[in-house]
Amino acid sequence: MKPIDEELSWDLTRLSENGLYRELRRVDSAQTPHIQIHGEPFLNFSSNDYLGLANDPLLKVAAMKAVEKYGAGAGASRLISGSLAPHHELDETIAAFKGVEAALSFSTGYAAALGTICALLDKRDVIVIDRLVHASIVDAARLCGAKLRVFGHNDMNDLEDILGWADRRRTEFLSSVCPSSSGPGVQVIRRRPRVLIVTESLFSMDGDFAPLCDLIALKEKFGAWLMLDEAHATGLYGAHRRGVAEGLGVASQVEIQMGTLGKALGASGGFIAGSRTLIDYLVNSARTFIFSTAPAPAAAAAATAGIHLIQSQEGEIRRERLFDLIAQLKSGWAGFEPKPSELPSPILPLLIGDETEAVQAAGALRAQGIFIPAIRYPTVARGKARLRLTLTAAHTPSGVARLLVALNNLKLLPEHGKTD
Ligand SMILES: *Cc1c(COP(=O)(O)O)cnc(C)c1O
Repeated sequence: MKPIDEELSWDLTRLSENGLYRELRRVDSAQTPHIQIHGEPFLNFSSNDYLGLANDPLLKVAAMKAVEKYGAGAGASRLISGSLAPHHELDETIAAFKGVEAALSFSTGYAAALGTICALLDKRDVIVIDRLVHASIVDAARLCGAKLRVFGHNDMNDLEDILGWADRRRTEFLSSVCPSSSGPGVQVIRRRPRVLIVTESLFSMDGDFAPLCDLIALKEKFGAWLMLDEAHATGLYGAHRRGVAEGLGVASQVEIQMGTLGKALGASGGFIAGSRTLIDYLVNSARTFIFSTAPAPAAAAAATAGIHLIQSQEGEIRRERLFDLIAQLKSGWAGFEPKPSELPSPILPLLIGDETEAVQAAGALRAQGIFIPAIRYPTVARGKARLRLTLTAAHTPSGVARLLVALNNLKLLPEHGKTD
């Protein structure tokens, strides 16, 4: 064994010992409720394809047409010669869908978070994130160089304390560097320190919602900006299915709206939506956008078709179907914590706790033909391993009934459904 492999295999052994080793499973079918893994059929309750669009004929035809006309690859970054018509159509379609001035698509949601946060903030600034935000936001917060503060999950008192601190820091900074409105000091500060709050509307691993109205009241009070990641909510909530912010009537108060194209929208990519100025700024400064080859034309065209489908009557029908399946599942199994005041969430975590036990529970479900992988550290905190169950509009009532039988066979205690 080479020294590098010896060292790395030692690390891998530690992962295995702690129930944290991961490996890829080859899926030999499209992303639908029925998947083939290593030749075996499973009912799949793990996909983020919430509206069943990933294998929809409309999206597939749009992708094929784009391949015919624009080829397999974009050939260059957007700012060189890769800004093809399908990318422009997608950006315009996202802006119209979200009801904002402008939008910019990225190759992934991860790239959208990283590029945007790092373009907006540097070491003069403060970034404030919820403890449970997605890894792409955590990584961006670390990379951008701003002071990082984490508030307890959905804890508005904690957030208020942090924003108060950030506000005092900003005031002190301004009075120290800018003693008068003229003179040499003005040249030194090019702008005031920024305070950016980043959170998710529907949380990816707990399936709960941010208290968005309270959060917006706080960010207004302290003059902070809000970046809202609606990765799991886009397509599902609000009259136009724009997301939770639309549903609550607060979308216009969110400075930076983020979403992905690879979940309910059925394709791949990520986006930022907001003002024309914000988007022009990102085109000029988001490094994951500037220094990366434009997405394949097929991906952009499929995403555009996905957005059109979601906006249509068919989109509303699929949302209703999904919400009915969620209601069926929740009424059939006592293991989920009832959260009556909340919107229906397609993400239903079954908290197990211990990593090895979670892997065993996933195995017991697989033995019954149900595929729900165990989610472990570092995706969630240590000792918070869970089965992350998701429903899509492509499931059927009989499929959900089969899932209920399998869950009841697992004999999990009721508190296993709770995430707190
Ligand atoms: C999936 C996800 C992302 C990343 O999006 P990709 O397009 O998969 O890179 C970002 N934020 C949240 C909350 C997500 O769940």
